[in-house]
Amino acid sequence: MTSLVTPVINGVGPATRLGGLPLADEVWAAMRDAATHACRMDELQAAVGQRLAALLEVPATYVTPGASAALTLAVAAAIEMRGGDPLAGEAWEVVIAAAHRDPYDRAAQAAGARIVAVGYPASTHPAELAAAIGPRTAAVLFRPGRGGEHPDLRTVSTIARGAGVPVVVDGALYTPPVARLQSLFRDGADLVAVSGGKGFRGPQASGLLCGDPDLLDLAAIQHQDMDERTQTWRRIRLGARAAAGDPARHGVGRGLKIGPEQLVGLLAAIERYLRAPGADDVAGIAELAAAEELLVDVPALSVSREFSDALQVPELHLDLAESTGSIDDLVHRLADGAPRVVLGEEGAWRRRLTVNPMALRPGDGPALAAAVRTALETES
Ligand SMILES: *Cc1c(COP(=O)(O)O)cnc(C)c1O
Repeated sequence: MTSLVTPVINGVGPATRLGGLPLADEVWAAMRDAATHACRMDELQAAVGQRLAALLEVPATYVTPGASAALTLAVAAAIEMRGGDPLAGEAWEVVIAAAHRDPYDRAAQAAGARIVAVGYPASTHPAELAAAIGPRTAAVLFRPGRGGEHPDLRTVSTIARGAGVPVVVDGALYTPPVARLQSLFRDGADLVAVSGGKGFRGPQASGLLCGDPDLLDLAAIQHQDMDERTQTWRRIRLGARAAAGDPARHGVGRGLKIGPEQLVGLLAAIERYLRAPGADDVAGIAELAAAEELLVDVPALSVSREFSDALQVPELHLDLAESTGSIDDLVHRLADGAPRVVLGEEGAWRRRLTVNPMALRPGDGPALAAAVRTALETES
């Protein structure tokens, strides 16, 4: 890779645009092994799904190429469950509290649904949510951990269940820890989308859809390769519900293709995670501490540490004094420096850059701190 592009120091963490996190050797070994045999992908999906459901103690699981893909497949399955066809151009809707909206709503839209936002960013009333659910509602989408006065998952599930509509949870910033995933099902979630490349440190193009096996069966049909003859197709059922005997044509998720190496790699990563949750974050956290030590006395910065509930690691906040000039220019100088450094910009509106430890490699902490000092000194 280094002969193609100049690598960056990734201070953002598990960001897709930066290629995610480094993989453990154990995960690589499992991926290499998976790629040396041929197998039926639907059988491998079912086998890995069963193992992961047992390990995570959730009703059932299905591996996808990420949480975003899992959301698309979840909504496609919900549309089918409600008697529709995601590819027929029908007017299906996904209902969501206004505060739960985020850029990954696109994943639901990709399955052919329109987003119906309910209430205001700071509050949604249960009655407003109930009134928004109708005959065209495919699913209710829920994102845990958002602030404000909104019906909790238990309330949302009760309302949705009354209308026969499944609840899809975007758990990408909520899982791991695994106990939180389990709590979503106790609170009534039907399907939960999980990222494989975030806290689980699985392959970057991996994720999980967890939940009701009959719904996962519908998701599988929307996802798997359907280059099959009716006469010889053998359907692997994930759930118990009887379904039509003919093979479908390719579904809306056929482009969300996944290889055996992602399936087996994610299983290996989650097995590793469960043996010692968070152990693979320790080295990066030491780099973070090294960066902190070298940055605390920089006059143009106010450095503070905060625990990220979403990613379960400490992060450094670098708050820039007014005298440092444009924060956007600083971001550019860091990106173009030697080494190149990329930091989190979620707080840029308040002149804050964030350092996440999860993707930091040995030596990155001091190098990152030196790059920040240099970029601050060379004001444009
Ligand atoms: C990261 C993220 C996703 C997408 O996860 P991928 O595994 O990269 O597809 C979806 N929703 C939220 C809230 C996220 O933070």
